[in-house]
Amino acid sequence: MTGDFECDLLIRNAEVYDGTGAPPVMADVAVAGDRIAAVGAGLTLSAREVVEAAGLALAPGFIDVHTHDDLAAMHVETSLPKLSQGVTTVVTGNCGISLGPSPLTRRDTVVPPLDLIATAEEYRYPRFGDYLDALRQHAPGVNVVPLVGHTVLRARAVEDLTGPARAEEVEAMRQGLAEALDQGAAGLSTGLAYPPAKAATTSEVLPLVGEVATAGALWTTHMRDERTGVVSAVAETIDIARRSGARTLISHHKCCGEAAFGLSRTTLAMIEEARGEIRLDIDVYPYTASSTVLIESFARDSRRVTVSWSDPHPDMAGRDLDEIAAFWGIDPMAALDRLRPGGAIYHQMDDDDLERILSWPPSLVGSDGLPRDRRPHPRLWGAFPRVLGLYAREQALLPMAGAIAKMTGQTADVLDLPDRGRIAEGAFADLVLFDPETIRDAASFEDPVRPSIGVRAVYVNGRRAYDGETNEGSACGRLLARSA
Ligand SMILES: [Zn+2]
Repeated sequence: MTGDFECDLLIRNAEVYDGTGAPPVMADVAVAGDRIAAVGAGLTLSAREVVEAAGLALAPGFIDVHTHDDLAAMHVETSLPKLSQGVTTVVTGNCGISLGPSPLTRRDTVVPPLDLIATAEEYRYPRFGDYLDALRQHAPGVNVVPLVGHTVLRARAVEDLTGPARAEEVEAMRQGLAEALDQGAAGLSTGLAYPPAKAATTSEVLPLVGEVATAGALWTTHMRDERTGVVSAVAETIDIARRSGARTLISHHKCCGEAAFGLSRTTLAMIEEARGEIRLDIDVYPYTASSTVLIESFARDSRRVTVSWSDPHPDMAGRDLDEIAAFWGIDPMAALDRLRPGGAIYHQMDDDDLERILSWPPSLVGSDGLPRDRRPHPRLWGAFPRVLGLYAREQALLPMAGAIAKMTGQTADVLDLPDRGRIAEGAFADLVLFDPETIRDAASFEDPVRPSIGVRAVYVNGRRAYDGETNEGSACGRLLARSA
């Protein structure tokens, strides 16, 4: 409470989605300091600021469960892609890639795909805790739930990255992980789909995930195979989850390449069955194109490949690989090689799989946005409003309240954040006010850097962080480190 007022902010007559999946109710929401002080119809509290919200919807701030915002979240300006979507919390360090601890202890180059998030100069945190200290000092633009990446630990511990780790190297990784968890990592991410983590066997990963289980933390996995081998990759994930006992989250679940179309029927049935005995969840982004570093097998499985960045040929960002190959008069795979190091957008999934995974009630929404890309996949700026506008309102693939729960309450449960992801008295005041009739992504593959439509105001820890057009300029986020 401040001064003579009973609360700092009173949002009146909003259609309130509480984040549980329950239908909305007309209510007022009062905020005092960084918490929600009261929720109810016709609140008569005096407030420093009153927002008339008739005709607008109010939801808990969205939690982006899958990001590569390790660096972007540090600054309020680079948090705009997220704030402008209504995102108030991001999970960093996904797919085996995290900004700390530095992967450069054993080698002086940044092994792809670690270059997706930072340059060698930016990998400057010797310990995971040093990265967390930097986040605390900067005051991040959004709240940050930090994971530590297996590929980073591997680059530090393993001499020959092309083969499985030796026993003492696995032990070194386990110790590195235990330190990071002690320092506040929320869990471990693996990215077994691409080298150099691809060389890790199940028996390399299992003791690490066991360490995660001991700490009561979370394991997130970009699985070994998201193409025709996706069924066996889900089986491996369930096996590791079951044997380790760790809470497990399958990242950006999808089926890539025409030969894999339809396999989500099988994978979802397997996941559903496993959920009877273990804590297993999935997240998904609402697009049928993926994006990562330049990889030949990904390009071969794609209908269309668009270059998102290239160090040797930055001017080729935004152009299709076929077009570049024709321009250079060489084979597309030779062109891909010439563009490396670089990244691309791969159109390689089917609408039916995406819709099946997105509408499956337990799935969570994550963006997987790549903030460093010169010509990013539109998911960076559009993932959340796209689910609400295109899939919930326009296509009625899922109810609006259910879609919101996939970005708020359900996500907070999986991340073990009891005070976030809900509109309830006592919860942190992470809030998004939006127009349910117009909310929609504006970013497209042709024009990917566009704030969404319909987001009116975003509050992070009780303070306004976005006003519908610009960041307010002050960083309102917090580091949500795990306490041991
Ligand atoms: Zn990934």
